[in-house]
Amino acid sequence: MARKIVAGNWKMNKTVNEGVQLVEDLKNELAKVDASDVTVVVSPPYVNLSEAVKAAGGSAVNVSAQNVHQEASGAYTGEISAEMLKSVGVGYVIIGHSERREYFGENSTDIAKKVDAVLAQGLTPIYCCGEVKEERESGQQNKIVGGQIEAELFHLSAEDFAKVVIAYEPVWAIGTGLTASPDQAQDMHAFIRSCVTEQYGEGIANETPILYGGSCKPSNAAEIFGKKDVDGGLIGGASLKAEDFIGIITAFN
Ligand code: PEP
Repeated sequence: MARKIVAGNWKMNKTVNEGVQLVEDLKNELAKVDASDVTVVVSPPYVNLSEAVKAAGGSAVNVSAQNVHQEASGAYTGEISAEMLKSVGVGYVIIGHSERREYFGENSTDIAKKVDAVLAQGLTPIYCCGEVKEERESGQQNKIVGGQIEAELFHLSAEDFAKVVIAYEPVWAIGTGLTASPDQAQDMHAFIRSCVTEQYGEGIANETPILYGGSCKPSNAAEIFGKKDVDGGLIGGASLKAEDFIGIITAFN
């Protein structure tokens, strides 16, 4: 069985001090519940990472970056490499978020290289895929998501693929208040797992964490996480307050 993971994506929110406070609040909330079987991850903006790692030190909170550059070093003004992320103690990196694809023009070639760069540093990619509204409405979601994972992940060896966390995030549900129904999430997660089975075999497929993301909240998380192929969530807005985030972390049945 895949491990359970709840990862927060803070996006462009929280100053350094606010971020440290949120990690402290989350540690306090975690101390009150039994969530030892859930891997908890927070993803602050780049400039907050060092302090967030320090604040999280020795606790169950893991720290992720929201992006990375695919090259190891060089003349890429404003960019950050996987080695730099490793040097501040980050363990995870979100790759291919739909906002990066849409607003910053990331394509499949970039995303595949980012996955490689992150794995080469021994960090864990939280790889995002998902269809836009028109693709869902015209019934093309499996073709789109299947194509994304084939182009961006299936070049990996089985050994490397086994280190990847997948987040299915229907773009029409991100930050919109619209959520995929639990059945829509389950259907897509089962489809993704079947693609992984075909490529890498059942053993690896069953161990691959597949997270759902898109307007997940304490009020809907239990129903979504209750589905067989949903192993947790990638959470945007509801990860910005410790009480909301803990409500999602504790939503597994
Ligand atoms: C996200 O940005 O990955 C996300 C799922 O956002 P939200 O939960 O706010 O829809």
